[in-house]
Amino acid sequence: MKYIVVLADGMAGEPLKELGGKTTMEAARKPYMDSMAGVSELGMAYMVPKGMSPGSDTANLSVLGYDPKVYYSGRSPLEALSIGVPMKSTDVSFRCNLVTVSEEQKEYQEKVIIDHSSDEISTEDAKILLEDLKKGLKGEGYHFYAGTSYRHLLIWENGQLVELTPPHDILGKTIGGYLPKDEVLLEMMEKSYAILSQHPINKTRKANGLNPANSAWFWGAGTRPALDSFEEKTGLKGAMISAVDLLKGIAVGAGLTNILVPGANGGLDTNYEGKADAAVKALLRENYDFVYVHIEAPDEMGHQGSIQKKIKAIENIDGQIIGRIRERLDKSAEEYRMLVLPDHPTPIARRTHTMDPVPYLLFDSKKAVEGQSAYQENTANKTGTVWEDGYRLMEHLLSR
Ligand SMILES: [Zn+2]
Repeated sequence: MKYIVVLADGMAGEPLKELGGKTTMEAARKPYMDSMAGVSELGMAYMVPKGMSPGSDTANLSVLGYDPKVYYSGRSPLEALSIGVPMKSTDVSFRCNLVTVSEEQKEYQEKVIIDHSSDEISTEDAKILLEDLKKGLKGEGYHFYAGTSYRHLLIWENGQLVELTPPHDILGKTIGGYLPKDEVLLEMMEKSYAILSQHPINKTRKANGLNPANSAWFWGAGTRPALDSFEEKTGLKGAMISAVDLLKGIAVGAGLTNILVPGANGGLDTNYEGKADAAVKALLRENYDFVYVHIEAPDEMGHQGSIQKKIKAIENIDGQIIGRIRERLDKSAEEYRMLVLPDHPTPIARRTHTMDPVPYLLFDSKKAVEGQSAYQENTANKTGTVWEDGYRLMEHLLSR
């Protein structure tokens, strides 16, 4: 038996006026998911425990079978694992986003946050900016590390777990009320604007119609994580296929192999087919029992508030990931179970994550059950199956 999780980040949503009351899942043409729905188990699962914030960190730990209440120690430490940054038990790590803030206002506090991802800045451009931040913000006990695209890392030695605001939660708002209370962190953010706003890379970006990466934004404080090995827990050899450092870090922590796919970039134009092919190869030729294929695109499009792009992301996942994996596995002699789900909803109108349960679809290649006409929020909800502790869904996938 082989097991596949197709994790469509942020795919679930809410009914939209612009779509005549449909959600983006309902509006997307997704023949593979919908035909599987007819013979699969559908239901809802709460991936984020009450009292925790609905991030891709807590939610993906849950999907992978780790109770976030037990295993979660912050988001950025998981990303630190993925980029190979060794953390001491006394270190506190922070996500350092490269963001876009408005330029008109003179005072930093009065600026408005426009884009949490600086138009998904390229890793090459971001590395250069981060080098200059390192030089300009040099301080005893603070260390910057370059990650991917707009996602980078700050380690504070003997630091404090300060509460900070995720930038994607306050898009369009004045930043003054959301800045760190800690003076050093605040000063570094203010200074980052002085360093970055005049940077040649940002001048070029603006000339090309792209949002400048003109400020650092710290959030997601955490301490060194300790996850149990997935293989020891389940007896299965597993792999992770994701473009996102957070997921790669969870994989490192859980002892899953990270399979890197060229052209996988976390964006709408990611290499979907390459990810599908890598999953099939891992399962059929490389002896893996379990593959977790994570696609960031629907979440990013939800944050951008783009209905058409989110629909496109869902359609791409349907045809180029799910359809492609199924076609190849069906030709092989392998039996398999496939779990399709988002980690959390990212409704277009809210442009951020919600605590709501997610719809899931569990397909078994050898065991058809009575299903639903389609895989989407309302059909999954209608079944009445609800997992209050979403992290138990993994046991359910792996049991027969
Ligand atoms: Zn998100």
